[in-house]
Amino acid sequence: MLVDYHVHTSFSDDSDYPMEEVVKDAIALGLSEICFTDHVDYGVKRDLDDGPLIVDGRFLANVDYERYFPLIEELKRKYAGEITLKRGLEFGIQRHTVSDFEKLFCKYPLDFVILSVHQVDDKEFFLGDYQKGKSQKEYNEGYYKEILYAVQHYKNYAVLGHLDHLVRYDQLGVYPFIKLKDLIAEILKVAIKDGKGLELNTSSIRYGLKDSTPSKDILMLYKDLGGTIITLGSDSHKKEHLGAHIKAGMTYLKELGFKEYCTFDKMQPIFHRL
Ligand SMILES: [Zn+2]
Ligand SMILES: [Zn+2]
Repeated sequence: MLVDYHVHTSFSDDSDYPMEEVVKDAIALGLSEICFTDHVDYGVKRDLDDGPLIVDGRFLANVDYERYFPLIEELKRKYAGEITLKRGLEFGIQRHTVSDFEKLFCKYPLDFVILSVHQVDDKEFFLGDYQKGKSQKEYNEGYYKEILYAVQHYKNYAVLGHLDHLVRYDQLGVYPFIKLKDLIAEILKVAIKDGKGLELNTSSIRYGLKDSTPSKDILMLYKDLGGTIITLGSDSHKKEHLGAHIKAGMTYLKELGFKEYCTFDKMQPIFHRL
C-alpha cells in the first residue's frame, strides 16, 4: 500500500495543480490513498471572506473552504474504488494565530491536520525575514519555542509537519542537534502525551538536504520517547512531486526500527505495517 499524506493543490496559493489532476495522477502512480493538505497560514494570509491581501504582487489567501471541501466530496464519489481521498489541511500556526485555528477546526470536519510552523512574528523563513538580524542560536531556538508554545496551546492536529523545517532555509548550515535536543524533546513529549504523530516529509530528497526531514536524530528521539505515530508525505505542489520518495521513506523508517506508519480517518490514526 502506497499513500501520500502531504499533498497540495491549486487551493494552496503556492500551487497551480488542479485537484482532479492530482487525483488522476495519484491513481496512475498506483497510490491507494492521498490526503489533501492545502495551506492555511493565518497572520500572513487571509481567508477569502476577509478580502484579498496583496504583498509585493503576491496574492496571499488561505484555502477557499467553501469550494475545497465540496470538491473533495465530489472527487471521492467520482473516483470511489480507484483511490481513497482524505480531507486534510496544513495549519501554519504561530502563537498569535492559535484562536483562528481553533475556530477553523470547529467549522469543517477534517480527517487530518498537519501542524507546521512556517513563520514567527509573521516573518517568513523562506524569505529570510525571520532569520535577519538574529544569530543562528536565536533563530533556531526561537523557531522551536514557537512550536513548543503551539503544541502546549493547540491540540487539534494529527502530526507535526517537517519538524526541522528551518534547516531548509538556514544559510549557516545545520545548527547542531545536541544544542536543540532538550527543546525538541520537550515538544515531542507534549505531542506523544497528546497522542500526536510526526511526519516524515520526503521533500528533503528533492531539496538535496543531507538528512531526512525531520532528521534521523529527531525521528530516533521521537521513537525513544515512545512515539509510534508516523505519516509519510511528499509535500507535493506539482506533478513531479506527487508520491515522490514515499517508498524510500518507508524503507528508511523500517531501518530506523519503526514497525508501522499511519493513515488517518476523522483525526484518528490507523496503523499499517511498514
Ligand atoms: Zn509546510
Ligand atoms: Zn506543505
